[in-house]
Order: sequence, then structure tokens, then C-alpha cells
Amino acid sequence: MPFRSGFVALIGRPNVGKSTLLNQLVGQKVAITSPVAQTTRNRLRAILTTPEAQLVLLDTPGIHKPHHLLGERLVQSARGAIGEVDVVLLLVDGSQPAGRGDAFIVELLRHGRVPVHVALNKSDRVGADAEDLAATYREMLSAAGERAGHWPLHRCSALHGEGCTALVQALAADLPPGPMLYPADVISDQPEQLLLAELIREQVLSHTREEVPHSVAVRIERIVEDEEAAGGRERTAVLATVLVERSSQKGILIGKGGQMLRAIGRGARLQMQKVFDGPVYLELFVKVVPNWRRHPGRLAELGYRGD
Ligand code: GDP
Ligand code: MG
Repeated sequence: MPFRSGFVALIGRPNVGKSTLLNQLVGQKVAITSPVAQTTRNRLRAILTTPEAQLVLLDTPGIHKPHHLLGERLVQSARGAIGEVDVVLLLVDGSQPAGRGDAFIVELLRHGRVPVHVALNKSDRVGADAEDLAATYREMLSAAGERAGHWPLHRCSALHGEGCTALVQALAADLPPGPMLYPADVISDQPEQLLLAELIREQVLSHTREEVPHSVAVRIERIVEDEEAAGGRERTAVLATVLVERSSQKGILIGKGGQMLRAIGRGARLQMQKVFDGPVYLELFVKVVPNWRRHPGRLAELGYRGD
């Protein structure tokens, strides 16, 4: 068997578990996840190397109807990913019957030339109704035509790992023979700054409710390695600004006596210490930038490119 390598796009509605699967597959946190839809804003590459193959996985923002400029960019980015890859993995929430959102994506995919695999995720939530639920997906695919009707169906739990090894093997078998594209120990091509920004955004999402999340962006201002501060141990100092659209949101983020911002900072710092494998000092500022989501220049500056 030749070694195989190539690109796999992870496509699916928001919240089906794409980022969770990515983290499960590479065995480490490379993407942020949350119960709030649209957590993933940037395309992320995670690299999974097995003895037989190397899979470069592209986590794409969930495909959905665009509501404003940021939404359009997310859809463009997901559509762009479909054209560039060797295999597409369409992830669906298998604990719910197939819906119109899934059918919309199948429609996008069925005209392409790329092999498609479908994974019914969240198998840990499915009981006696497993077959009935799977049948709704088979029907949807068959209705989309001969080719879609033959896309292989898999079951997995991105959260707990069941079915993931078989899924990786099936995807790898559809990659072309080729050399490693990244060194075997690399798991992500995401710049460190972006990962750190995402870790902060993840804490904002988990600490606040509806009124804040979609209006938040994080900019890393400085990362300083400083050896003196922690008694000879290397400590990393991170300075970051959290951008919001309204001063009311700034108030929520800071909280009573700064409590909320401290909790967000503490949570993000703990995650960053895992990334750096050492002590981290994190300083967070909150800044109001009205309508940042509607300005192409600002989106680009924050890394949300329209490519
Ligand atoms: P994404 O928007 O597709 O990237 O979805 P996320 O990976 O952010 O996951 C959305 C939510 O679904 C999170 O709360 C996850 O913990 C949850 N989730 C993802 N995969 C599974 C799974 O296999 N089982 C269960 N029970 N929950 C899952
Ligand atoms: Mg995601």
C-alpha cells in the first residue's frame, strides 16, 4: 500500500461538530468549539498523520444563509474550500433527522468532482431510533441523485471518539498516493496569534450570552517571551484587545468590578498555558469599535479574508 496524502474539507451546518471532530482526530485542541452556532470564523488546517497517510483537514465555517458581510465571507470561505480538496467530509448531526440545511449543502456538493463521505455525528446521543434517523439521510442523498445516493455513510461521535478511526481510514483510502506535506509532528498550520485570539474568543462565548458573542473579535497586540519574571522559568506575556461593537457590550464583558473580564482572562490563560506548556501572563483590554463587522478593511485586519 502506497503512502497517501491530501486535503479533506470538513463541511456541514453550524453546530454539527466539525471543530470537535477536528480536535478529536488530531488529539489536541486546535479549533474552538461551543454550543453557540458560528463559532469558527477562519479556515483552519489541522494535520493528521497516521502510518498509512497524512490528512490535511480544513475546518470550514458552517454553511448557512448570510445575514451580513461577515456571514457572506464565511459562506465564501466554505464554498472555496470545496474546490481545493481531494475529499469532502460532509458532517451532519445524526441525532436529528436530515433537514433543509443539510439538503442545501448536498446541493452544493453534488455537482463537484470530489469524492464525498457523509458522517452521522453525535452517535452517542442516538438510541433505538438510530436506523430511522440514518434512513432520513439516505433518503435525502438518494433524492439528490444517483451519485449522492452512493456517497459512503459513516457513524461517529466526535465528542467521545467512537467510529473516528474507521472514518479516518475510509477518508485516507480516497486520497491520492503522495508524500507527507507537513512534518509528522505538526498538527496545525494556524499562526500562534490566531490560536491565542481564538482561545480568548472561546472564553467570551462561554461566559456571555446571546447579546455579545457575534459582535466580538480579538486582536493579539503582543506576545513576549520573558525569562526573568518567573524565577528563571520562561514565561509568556500576551497582550490582547477584545473588540466589541457597542459600549453596552463592553460593560457586559468587563462586568461588575471587572469580574467578568477576570474570569474570561483566567479561562483563556489556563488554555494558553497548555499551548505554551509553561506559565502565561495575560492582559486583556476591551475596546468599542462600532460596526466592525461591516467594514471590509477591519475584517481583513482581523484575519477574515474574503478569499
Ligand atoms: P461546529 O459548529 O460544526 O464546529 O460544531 P462544534 O464542534 O463547535 O460543536 C457544537 C456543539 O456540539 C458543541 O457543544 C459540542 O460539544 C457538541 N458536539 C460535537 N460533537 C458531538 C458528539 O459527537 N456528541 C455530542 N453529544 N455532542 C457533540
Ligand atoms: Mg466550528
